[in-house]
Amino acid sequence: PTVGVVRETNDGERRVALVPKVVTTLIGKGLEVIVEPGAGLGALIPDELYKEAGATIGDPWSADLVVKVAPPSDAEIAKLKSGSTLIGFLAPRNADNKIAALKAAGVQALAVEAIPRISRAQVMDALSSQANVAGYKAVVVAASESTRYFPMLTTAAGTVKPATVLVLGVGVAGLQALATAKRLGGRTTGYDVRPEVADQVRSVGAQWLDLGIDAAGEGGYARELTDDERAQQQQALENAIKGFDVVITTALVPGRPAPRLVTAAAVEGMKPGSVVVDLAGETGGNCELTEPGQTVVKHGVTICSPLNLPATMPEHASELYSKNLQAVIELMLDDNGALAPDFGDEILAAACVTREEASA
Ligand code: NAD
Repeated sequence: PTVGVVRETNDGERRVALVPKVVTTLIGKGLEVIVEPGAGLGALIPDELYKEAGATIGDPWSADLVVKVAPPSDAEIAKLKSGSTLIGFLAPRNADNKIAALKAAGVQALAVEAIPRISRAQVMDALSSQANVAGYKAVVVAASESTRYFPMLTTAAGTVKPATVLVLGVGVAGLQALATAKRLGGRTTGYDVRPEVADQVRSVGAQWLDLGIDAAGEGGYARELTDDERAQQQQALENAIKGFDVVITTALVPGRPAPRLVTAAAVEGMKPGSVVVDLAGETGGNCELTEPGQTVVKHGVTICSPLNLPATMPEHASELYSKNLQAVIELMLDDNGALAPDFGDEILAAACVTREEASA
C-alpha cells in the first residue's frame, strides 16, 4: 500500500504528519511513501531528507492512505480518491467538521481525537503528545511576557522572590505547564474540577488548590458546571488569582465552549505586570478578557491567547505526532503488510468517524 504525506496549508501550520525516521520504519514494513514537495519545510525537513529515508517526492493525494495534521479543506477532500483512508486531526466535535463530506467522497477517515484514551492506545494519543507541547510552550510564552523573574534569585544586588504560577485545568497540557513552570523556578499551584488530579499536581511539586467542586465526568473528562457551581467557582477563583504573578488556563469540556474561569474582575484584581496565558482560545477562552489569537493588555495585565501552539514547535511536535501515526498505521496492517483495518478493534472502531456505526 501507498502512504501519502501532504503539505499542510492552514495558516501558521508548520507541522508535518510523518518525519523521515518514521518514513523509513514504515517502508521497512513494506509500505511505499509519497511525500508532497515541501511537505516538511515548515518543520525544517527538506525533500532531500525524505528521499534519503526512501520516500518518493510526488503527488500524495492518490495514495491508499493519506496522513495529515490539520483537518482537510474542501479542495483537499476533492483530491482524495474514493476508497482511500485519511488519518489526521478532524475536529469531529466541531459543528463545521468535514466528516459528512469525507463520507460522501467515499473516504474512510480516522480522527486522532477519537482514539480512546486506554493504555494500549497511549502510543497513538496525539491529543496528549500535542497538548504536552502546548503546555510547555504556554509557560515559555508567560515567562517571555512577564516583567518579572520566574526563579528566586539571591544576588549581590538583592533578592528576587520566585514567581507564583497558577494553572487552571490540569489535564495533559496543564500538568506539563506545572512541571515546566517548576523547572523554571516558579512556585506552582494547580486547580481542576476533577479531584483525582490532586495527586498528579502534587507529584510535579505543585500545591493543589481545593475549591470543593467535583465535576468529574465521563471517560476521565470534566462535565460542564451548573450555573450555581460556576458562580461559586468564579468567585473563589477571583479571590485566589489576586496572589499570582502568572495564570495559565487550559480548561476544556469536550464538545462545549471553554468554561469561563477568570472573570474581568479577577484580572482587575491582579497586580499590573502579571500575565495570563489562555490555551482555550479556540473554544472561546477561559478568561473573560481573552481575545483569541491576540495578546492584549487589560488593567495592566498581559493576556495572551496563542492558537495552535504545537505548530510553533514544529520539529518536536511533528516527531511525536509521527510516532502516534506510526502506531495507528501499524495497527491497520495485517500480517502480510496489507492495509486491512480490523474494525472489531476498539481503537480503530472508535477512531473511524465515517463508518455508519460511528455516526449513529
Ligand atoms: P482536556 O484538555 O479535555 O481538559 C483540560 C482540563 O480542564 C481537564 O483536566 C478538565 O478536568 C479541566 N476542566 C474542565 N472544566 C473545568 C473547570 N470548569 N474548572 C477547572 N478545570 C476544568 O483534558 P485532557 O488533557 O485531554 O485530559 C483528559 C483526561 O484524559 C484526563 O483524565 C487525562 O488524565 C486522561 N488521559 C488519559 C490518557 C491515557 O490513559 N491514555 C492519556 C491522556 C490523557
